[in-house]
Amino acid sequence: MKFEPVIGLEVHAQLKTNAKIFCGCSTAFGAPPNTHVCPVCLGMPGVLPVLNKGVVEYAMKMALATNCHVEGTSRFARKNYFYPDLPKGYQISQYELPIARNGHVNITLEDGTVKKIGITRIHMEEDAGKLVHDPNRPVSYVDYNRTGVPLIEIVSEPDICSPEEAGAYLRQLRSILRYLDISDGNMEEGSFRCDANVSVRPRGTSEFGTRTELKNLNSFKFVEKALAYEIDRQIEALANGSLVVQETRLWDSEKSRTISMRGKEEAHDYRYFPDPDLVPLVIDRAWIKEVKKSLPELPDQRRQRFVRDYNLPEYDADVLTASRETADYFEQCAALISNPKTASNWIMGELMGLLNAKGLSITESPISAKRLADLIKLIEEGIISGKIAKTVFDEMADSDRVAKTIVEEKGLVQVSDESAIEETVARVIENHPEEVEKYRGGKTKLFGFFVGRVMKETGGKANPQVVNRLLKNRLDNK
Ligand code: ADP
Ligand code: MG
Ligand code: ZN
Repeated sequence: MKFEPVIGLEVHAQLKTNAKIFCGCSTAFGAPPNTHVCPVCLGMPGVLPVLNKGVVEYAMKMALATNCHVEGTSRFARKNYFYPDLPKGYQISQYELPIARNGHVNITLEDGTVKKIGITRIHMEEDAGKLVHDPNRPVSYVDYNRTGVPLIEIVSEPDICSPEEAGAYLRQLRSILRYLDISDGNMEEGSFRCDANVSVRPRGTSEFGTRTELKNLNSFKFVEKALAYEIDRQIEALANGSLVVQETRLWDSEKSRTISMRGKEEAHDYRYFPDPDLVPLVIDRAWIKEVKKSLPELPDQRRQRFVRDYNLPEYDADVLTASRETADYFEQCAALISNPKTASNWIMGELMGLLNAKGLSITESPISAKRLADLIKLIEEGIISGKIAKTVFDEMADSDRVAKTIVEEKGLVQVSDESAIEETVARVIENHPEEVEKYRGGKTKLFGFFVGRVMKETGGKANPQVVNRLLKNRLDNK
């Protein structure tokens, strides 16, 4: 029997407001432990939470950007459990009335088709504190700086069918959060976290299988690896006639496997109930409209504009708009040259290769958009060939010099002067009588051989178009 996976993701994103969700404490990262705290976020008796309007605005932005319906009335609820990082003994979250529902995002699959992934709900909640375990003594410390930092949870429909789609969906969510500038979306640093729910079912059937929930996934790579492992594990279990147990499993990145953390029996009963300290949240139409108007151009729209206005292939547009900074870089570069596709090729190829090798982001690029455009202009003007341009690009990566200076200093200017090239062409033909005979006898593939010879003799500087034309002339007209 063939099985297919069914995946639904729960994503927590930390919002970038300056203050916490229910008090005025700072959300700044990296302060000494327990310095960004007050009686409210420490859960002292008698204190009252006051909702930060900025958090609601950010949550609304994400809701609108993901095509959700923003609810006119929503409610905060208490999620009750005990843990030392949770001073109140409950987390303020939203439960039966979340701020937004029924949205979707589009992801681009490998073959270029676009797939819609449904979003069940988005709700706001507060983060818990952080336990720090002493590696040398049986002692743990608690840091409450993070307590009350605002989060949104984005719950997907079980519309995702493979680990790759899960990765694409997460990248799309992160990209939207970053375009909106409401979250850092950094998985490694914990400002973007994901729990993955996965089950398998016989291909073609519609009923869901029993799912497991995977936690401890702190990179995109781990999400995809953990899902792939878990899908195999579940299929094997079913194929062997055993059952999948509904449970929470942890990803063990060292051993590359998932391990059982807790079963359904041990699952929490959180005893949710509406928080009596907070009135229902009422959002009027006018505010929704205002927030909608304030939305920047989003990745999807920008991708479509790149295809339309720059005439780029879907694939290029998708890669270039994945991050706002890369898209900005492309637009700056494209504005200075004639053919936008050339800028796209250089950015996706040479530039991204360089940045990957150096572990840099595009905002840290040693070659600015203007410097890259200057280099591309030299190709467009026929001053250097594309091949020479790669050498110049490498030089530019290690110095501040502009392309033109490097080309002049190194004497790389392309030779388009026909008489000079003609001379080399004649010599190459004269020196390879055997190849000439074979070529004229029908082995036309040898043409590349002659081009290569001429280019070699001119140190790569001959204008390839002129070389092609002159060679053809000589070889075809004896
Ligand atoms: P819980 O609150 O217990 O985690 P939810 O009903 O909120 O449960 O579901 C959480 C996530 O699990 C959602 O993203 C949903 O799409 C996904 N999910 C639900 N059932 C399945 C299933 N059988 N297989 C895979 N994913 C599922
Ligand atoms: Mg869950
Ligand atoms: Zn506080």
